[in-house]
Amino acid sequence: MTLNGESMLLMHGRIFDGTGDEEIPDGAIWIEGDEIRRVGPVDQFDDVDQNVPRIDLGGRFVMPGMTEAHSHLSYFNASSLQDLDMNCTAETTTISAVLNARTMLRCGYTSSHSFGSLHAVDVAVRNAINSGMVPGPRYVACGRDVLGTGGMIDWNPDHLQLGMDGLAMLADNPWEVRKAIRSIRKSGADTVKVYLDGEGMIESDLPGELSYTQEEASAAADEGHRRNLRIISHARSADAVIMAMKAGFDVIGHANYLNDEALERMREERHRIFVTPAIHWQVGLYSNGAEWGFTHQALDSMGYKDEIAETINSVAKMKAAGIRVLPGGDFGLAWTPHGSYAKDLQNFVELFGYTPRETLLAATRDAGALVDFGGKVGTLEAGKFADIVVVDGDPLSDITVLQDLDKIVTVIQGGKIFHNALDSGPRFDLSAKPGLKASVERQFEAAAG
Ligand SMILES: [Zn+2]
Repeated sequence: MTLNGESMLLMHGRIFDGTGDEEIPDGAIWIEGDEIRRVGPVDQFDDVDQNVPRIDLGGRFVMPGMTEAHSHLSYFNASSLQDLDMNCTAETTTISAVLNARTMLRCGYTSSHSFGSLHAVDVAVRNAINSGMVPGPRYVACGRDVLGTGGMIDWNPDHLQLGMDGLAMLADNPWEVRKAIRSIRKSGADTVKVYLDGEGMIESDLPGELSYTQEEASAAADEGHRRNLRIISHARSADAVIMAMKAGFDVIGHANYLNDEALERMREERHRIFVTPAIHWQVGLYSNGAEWGFTHQALDSMGYKDEIAETINSVAKMKAAGIRVLPGGDFGLAWTPHGSYAKDLQNFVELFGYTPRETLLAATRDAGALVDFGGKVGTLEAGKFADIVVVDGDPLSDITVLQDLDKIVTVIQGGKIFHNALDSGPRFDLSAKPGLKASVERQFEAAAG
C-alpha cells in the first residue's frame, strides 16, 4: 500500500470543482494513479475498498490546482530588465528557475503558462519537471522573445555594443522572423512570444509604438502555427491588439488600451483566444517600485497611472464580451517577486470587479483551457489529472487567503502529494526536500511500508 500516487480518497471537503457548478458541501474525491476517478457527495463512496487510504479534510475548501497564465520561471526577481539578461549566466538563471518552479507549485499552481524565457531555460525546466527530476507546475515552455530592432527589449543604444541575446532574438522582415521561430521550434519550446509594441519605462519603444509591421506579425503567426507553436504577444495598445488579431495570435498579453475594433476582433474569436493583462506588473511597481527608483511620480510620468485606469475599463469590456481574461501577473521582477502569484487574484477582485468565484474559475477552468494538457487540467472531474489544492479558509469570501502559504495546506499534483500539513494523511512534504523527486518518493514509500 502506498499513500502517494496509487489510490487515495479525500474525504469531507467542501468541493469547488471549477466547472461553474455549486460547491459540494461534504464531498469526496477518489484518486487513482494520476487521475481523478470520482467526485461527489461523501456518501457516494461506500463502495471504495477499505484498503484505499483516506485523508480527512475536516470540511476544508478543495479546489482544482491553479494555472499561472503569464509566468516567467526564468526571471529571478531582478531589479532591472537589463540585469535579467546581462548580469546573470544561463547556468545561474537555470538554478533560480528550478527553485521558482518549486515555489510556484507550493503556492497551489499546478500548471503554468510561460510568457517568455531567458536562453532555453524554460525548455530545460519543463523537461526536468516532466521527467520527475524536480518538482514544479506542468509547464508550457516559451522560447526567447522575438522582436524587431529597436523593439521593446532592444533599448541599449548601438554605441554601447550591448546585446540582449539571452532574452531577445532580433528579427527584421518576415523571413528573419520565420527563421527565428524555426530556431525556437528546434530548441523545443511550446510557444513563442512576439513583441508588437512597447512599454512605459522604455523611452525608445512606448506602448502604441508598433515595432513590427503587419507583414512581420502575420509571418510570425503563420510560421508558428505551421510548426505547432502557440503564438503569444506583448501588445499594450489597441493597434498592437488589432495587429495580433489580424495575424491570428493565440494569446494577447496586456491589452491595456482597447478601441471598438480591437474589442470586436477579440470578441469574434473569444472561443479561440485568451488575454493575460498581467496587471500586477503595474500594481507591483506602485507598491514596491520606489526601492528601485520607480517612485509614484516617476511611474505617473511614464504613463502607468493612466495605463491602470485604462486597463480597468478594457477588462470590464472584455469580460462583458465573454473574452477569457486570465490571472497571471508577470511575477519574477523585484517588485513582483516569485511566491506572490495569488496577489493577481486579488487584483481581479479589487480592480477588475470579478467576484471571487469568477476569479477562481478564471484561474482554474479557463486558464486550464489555455495550457490544455490534453484537456485534463482546470477542473475536478472524473478522468482529469488529480491536481488538487486544499485551503484552510474560504477563498470565495476572501480571495486573499490564497496568498497565505500556511492556508494552502495540501497540494496534490497528478495524484502525488507535494505538500500536506493536515494531521490526517501523510505529512511528508516534497516541497521541503530539494533534490530528486524520484529518490524522495522512494524514501517515502519505504517509510510508509
Ligand atoms: Zn511578462
